[in-house]
Amino acid sequence: MSEVAIVGGGLAGGAAATLLAREDRRVILLERDIEPNHRICGEFISGDAETMLRRLGLDLERLGATRMDRLRIVSDTRTISVPLPFAAFGLTRKRLDAALLDLAEAAGARVERGAVARRIDGRRVETSLGAIEPDTLLLASGKHDLRGAPRSTEGCAKDFVGFKTYWRLGASTVAALRGHIEIILFDHGYAGLQLVEGGIANLCLLVRKTRFAEIGGTWTSLLEALIALPRFACRLADGEQILEKPLTIAGVPYGFMHRARPGSDDIAFRLGDQAAVIPSFCGDGMAIALHSARRAAATIIAGGGPADHHHALRADLARQVSLAMWIQKIGGNGSLQALMLGAISLAPAILPWLAQVTRVRVPS
Ligand SMILES: Cc1cc2nc3c(=O)[nH]c(=O)nc-3n(C[C@H](O)[C@H](O)[C@H](O)COP(=O)(O)OP(=O)(O)OC[C@H]3O[C@@H](n4cnc5c(N)ncnc54)[C@H](O)[C@@H]3O)c2cc1C
Repeated sequence: MSEVAIVGGGLAGGAAATLLAREDRRVILLERDIEPNHRICGEFISGDAETMLRRLGLDLERLGATRMDRLRIVSDTRTISVPLPFAAFGLTRKRLDAALLDLAEAAGARVERGAVARRIDGRRVETSLGAIEPDTLLLASGKHDLRGAPRSTEGCAKDFVGFKTYWRLGASTVAALRGHIEIILFDHGYAGLQLVEGGIANLCLLVRKTRFAEIGGTWTSLLEALIALPRFACRLADGEQILEKPLTIAGVPYGFMHRARPGSDDIAFRLGDQAAVIPSFCGDGMAIALHSARRAAATIIAGGGPADHHHALRADLARQVSLAMWIQKIGGNGSLQALMLGAISLAPAILPWLAQVTRVRVPS
């Protein structure tokens, strides 16, 4: 039987391993973390992502996820609250990714935790367990580029720094957040605040590098600047940060979509953030990761190759990613942002519409 190797055991890798193992493919998945770990992610699971996870066999509410059906946008001058066009969920990636890897193992995939892919050369992978050369190689290492197979991210917007941490919040703040994803806008950045399992809140934010440097260039100085704003103070002032240090990331290539260079790296199937990166505020990166896994598995089972997969994925995602980039640009410009919020408060239906047009379409 031919062998499929998958580098990365996040959502894309875990879903692809499950689907292929269920089709009796011999699958090995390499995941560098030995234990389930926190990931930098807002942990907003959209309706599309939930549908795909449920079809794989995961029941998010049984895993402890909180349910959200409203979006609240808070700026210095306005608060807008609208229903989401779908039910969404909040669950830590630590719990979700672990559940998905368990599912892959139960389906028959060999999951090697603590195994690192060090270099890719064609389909040959040098790993911490030795070299392998599978018949089919899937790259699902997420934000981390692999030596020998980097993404071509020239021209992408890489000017944000991201932070994620957890908070234990006061009872009245938890009550105010229940059922909501809250997007809090600030000068050259935005934050997402929502509940995950166990009554704790995920605060994930992105700030432009230049603004971050002006504020002082440290998490402490950024947090001080945010808590000085009433819209953050009313949420966080009586709260307690749970992680010792926030998780951070810089240089995420927003707007990236894999396009094979002639004669180059269409030797491996790219999944998730290795295939496409949509602006984080859309909360659809996880759905894209899961969708790309389904696409790759279907292509492999039908006997297709990486080029077929990448073409199909571009057709599915290019419009959503470029629309989301435009919205990110408008949202990042102070006066256009005020105009956009004004328009939304006059016609709130714009928001669910924007949420719809930046979404992955899940076939029924
Ligand atoms: C600040 C921020 C907030 C976000 N918020 C949301 C949100 O709220 N909702 C949403 O849907 N999306 C969100 N996203 C996007 C989402 O997190 C990603 O799109 C999604 O995690 C991509 O999944 P993936 O499986 O491709 O990669 P990942 O989830 O990053 O998984 C990659 C896996 O590969 C492993 N790995 C990496 N390198 C190696 C190696 N060399 N060898 C072996 N294993 C390796 C890693 O340990 C990891 O387990 C956010 C992104 C950012 C940056």
